Amino acid sequence: MIPFNKPYFSGKETAYIEEAVHSGKISGDGMFTQRCQAFFERRYGFKKCLLTTSCTDALEMAAILLDIKEGDEVIMPSYTFVSTANAFVLRGAKIVFVDSTAENPNMDTLAIEALITPRTKAIVVVHYAGIACDMKQVLAMAETHGIFVVEDAAQAIESFHEGKPLGSIGHLAAFSFHETKNIISGEGGMLVINDERFLHRAEIIREKGTNRSQFFRGEVDKYGWVDIGSSFLPSEIIAAFLYAQLENLDDIQMKRKSLWNQYMNRFAGKAESTLSLPYIPEYATNNAHMFYLVFQSEIQRGKVISALRNKGIHSVFHYISLHKSEFYKDKHDGRDLIHTDRYTDCLLRLPMYYELSIEDIDRITDIILSNLEE
Ligand SMILES: *Cc1c(COP(=O)(O)O)cnc(C)c1O
Repeated sequence: MIPFNKPYFSGKETAYIEEAVHSGKISGDGMFTQRCQAFFERRYGFKKCLLTTSCTDALEMAAILLDIKEGDEVIMPSYTFVSTANAFVLRGAKIVFVDSTAENPNMDTLAIEALITPRTKAIVVVHYAGIACDMKQVLAMAETHGIFVVEDAAQAIESFHEGKPLGSIGHLAAFSFHETKNIISGEGGMLVINDERFLHRAEIIREKGTNRSQFFRGEVDKYGWVDIGSSFLPSEIIAAFLYAQLENLDDIQMKRKSLWNQYMNRFAGKAESTLSLPYIPEYATNNAHMFYLVFQSEIQRGKVISALRNKGIHSVFHYISLHKSEFYKDKHDGRDLIHTDRYTDCLLRLPMYYELSIEDIDRITDIILSNLEE
């Protein structure tokens, strides 16, 4: 049996949780939260990091910070997780979906310009599989038209665009530490603030609309209700778990990359007429978040899923295009997004986790290749 995902544990998680429990403070923003935030700020040069209870929450904070209102338009890919869109829909935005590129599921940045109107408030990029979107083009358009850029970097830890860490490029960025990501805390996430204008308000929104963070730093002598907000901060127990993972980030990444490379080597030059392999543009790096294949047809993908399942191997497809979702299909402007639909029908994700072995990958690739040759 080979599952699709298996959470990674460094072994120190429970010791750190115990430490947090014995410290007498288990609500948010304690020592482990500070340590995690400082780790990311130091390692990636992010201006300010705030741990959140999920990437979904970090995206909701971003929508509040950008003052998204009824009638605003937000441009984003259709091939993404619901949270990317939901965060902005909750504030009343209309979502303008962009097709994916032919080469990989990232949004076609050349298609953005024609979709910009005076109501466009933000572009949300999703670095699919941790592979950077063409941020040069996105930033150029955002500057010309005075539009905010948010990076949904949920899958993009330890990945780069022309040497710059993903998450450091947009005005705001959101990461996920859900158990399916490279580094995890069960549920968990982080908002990255790269534009100083949002620093002050981000802390308030995260603390239920109060200036409690300022109070605890001794900057004000009492705290109260100063803005809208919610409870977006995780407890110290979550942060303690996450910190145990951060200490092993290099090891996790080394292992994942070696597994990813094994997949790539095994598939290279094989069955080229029936499947395409992940495409990593020159400006991007690979953080080995995911290994996927794109088949010629949904039928072919279905056959491979069954062949793997018969041998106890769990592979899974991914997003159902948001522009065709039950919730949004009537609100979408009707444009066809052909590549998005193709990835919905033909993309398949293979098992990828720290404990996977090279032998497991050889088994998986053998089953797939022999099935395609039949
Ligand atoms: C995982 C993921 C999310 C959601 O993350 P949570 O931490 O579970 O809220 C959002 N966007 C993308 C692209 C993701 O992969």
